Amino acid sequence: MVRWKTTFDGRARDTHIARHNKIYTIDQASALIGEPNCRCAVVPVVPE
Ligand SMILES: [Zn+2]
Repeated sequence: MVRWKTTFDGRARDTHIARHNKIYTIDQASALIGEPNCRCAVVPVVPE
């Protein structure tokens, strides 16, 4: 699982801001990330 991190620089998409800090599977995240000019990142979630 990964946590979505939106880059808040005033140009982030609203849909991406809504994803900030949400948890996704790697498959979901890789399908969502990588849009043109998207500067979001995902970081691995360490299970507790
Ligand atoms: Zn983005």
